[in-house]
Amino acid sequence: PDTLLIDAVRRWARETPDAEALVHGERRISYAQLETEIDALACAMLACGVGPGDRVACLAPPEPVFVTSLIAANAIGAIWIGLNPRYKLEELRFVLGDSTPRLMIARGKIDGRDYGEELATLAAERRDMSVVIDHDLPTFLGEGAALGADDIAARRPDGRAASMIVYTSGSTGRPKGALLSQAAIHAFAQAQNALWPVAPLRVLNYFPINHIGSVVDISLPALIAGGTVVLMEKFDPAESLELMQRERITLWASVPSVFQMQLDLPDFDRFDLSAVQLIVWEGAPMAEPLIRRLHAIHPRLATNYGMTEATSAILAMPPCDDPALLARSVGYPFAYAEVRLVDPAGNVGEEGEIQLRSPLVTLGYWNRPDATAEAIDADGWLHTGDIGRRLPDGSYAIAGRIKEMYKSGGYNVYPLEVEAVIEAHPGVHGCAVVGIPDPLWDEVGIAFVIADADVSEADILTHCRERLANYKLPKRFELRRELPLLPIGKVDKVALRREAREHAP
Ligand code: ATP
Ligand code: MG
Repeated sequence: PDTLLIDAVRRWARETPDAEALVHGERRISYAQLETEIDALACAMLACGVGPGDRVACLAPPEPVFVTSLIAANAIGAIWIGLNPRYKLEELRFVLGDSTPRLMIARGKIDGRDYGEELATLAAERRDMSVVIDHDLPTFLGEGAALGADDIAARRPDGRAASMIVYTSGSTGRPKGALLSQAAIHAFAQAQNALWPVAPLRVLNYFPINHIGSVVDISLPALIAGGTVVLMEKFDPAESLELMQRERITLWASVPSVFQMQLDLPDFDRFDLSAVQLIVWEGAPMAEPLIRRLHAIHPRLATNYGMTEATSAILAMPPCDDPALLARSVGYPFAYAEVRLVDPAGNVGEEGEIQLRSPLVTLGYWNRPDATAEAIDADGWLHTGDIGRRLPDGSYAIAGRIKEMYKSGGYNVYPLEVEAVIEAHPGVHGCAVVGIPDPLWDEVGIAFVIADADVSEADILTHCRERLANYKLPKRFELRRELPLLPIGKVDKVALRREAREHAP
């Protein structure tokens, strides 16, 4: 339990010093180089006065400094926070005000946006925070030059120390910062590698570094296994496949919407993905037609269900070649998880709120004792807010979020189920369903759908009628070119619900 992220890097720097740890454009960073860079950064942090429990924030796309700043901060007992460059000034202000970092390491320019002015504004507002912009990094590192590995070792925290604050996606309200321990992250990574064995482990990461998936699911398991993380600053479907081919990516891990974009490319077949050993999707259910398309590319598939507060996965499927099973089930309790399903009356049974007890559960929400007490009960059960069902084979199905459920004509409807049906229509490329008040039925569903130009509302309605009970049929289908997204890329349902209410005829 007292293994830190830095220990994994030191181990591979000793055993396989020349193996590639990170690839970023033309830069290839070996484990030996990674260790040197992390040590230099940790020494500079010490010289700058970063102490145990202090926060260190990193504003960057997925690039090497995200990994080095995280492992360096953790090596000296500091808590890391990843910031998404797509955050607006207000969002940055909220996260920095909540987490009050002692130090922020930032890229000055990202994808055409110059952060100079915004960073100056934020630095002026937070006088207790030092800001190091990339062009000042050599000077910053110079200040730590007199320190060395002994000084880092002297600050070594124990494994239960906090590693990072990861903000939730904000699907149901303001994001909350979940405090995750180094031991939990390490245990998570090892368990994931054991469940989904792939060798050599080579992953591609284009996900924003503030998200649990980018850091804990994709990057750290590969580094802990001595594998390679290929970093891509800005996602593009064709370029991502190009990189997968060039870098011989072995674990194709992503989210359903990204797979959809990649497979929908007219020239998808030209990419050589023969190095892939396992395909994994996370974060949301995948429609069965898409699962079948992936299955035709590679027969070894897997998925999981999880959340930030659980250091990611709660339920996970081992490698599986049965598309029908993967369409209905997210698998079995993952690594140390005790899982139970609790109905509204408090009875434990085969269907109800998914509750979890595990050493991987968050140490608590940062600055939010109220929210922590609400989420984790006195017996240590985390209340996920999601409804699950146990299937006859002992695996679990996800019905949806309690907060998104609506009642139509006395029946409970989970948007997730309706969305899965709509997305199974071959001409549909995405959809979101929200419930709004209705004078006759109490509440009704409104579906926002992205579809091919030749697909009409009537087509989708007919498709749904054949597959859903009447009370589950959305009252309206609104065809859209795109859906509003949260900074992390999830659909912003709070915005859609507001819109659906305002436009109600
Ligand atoms: P917030 O907690 O701020 O409202 P969020 O819950 O979307 O946002 P995350 O921790 O990123 O923040 O997402 C976890 C949630 O994502 C889960 O609670 C669940 O609702 C959903 N989810 C994750 N994996 C799956 C899956 N495989 N199938 C269905 N839903 C999933
Ligand atoms: Mg949540």
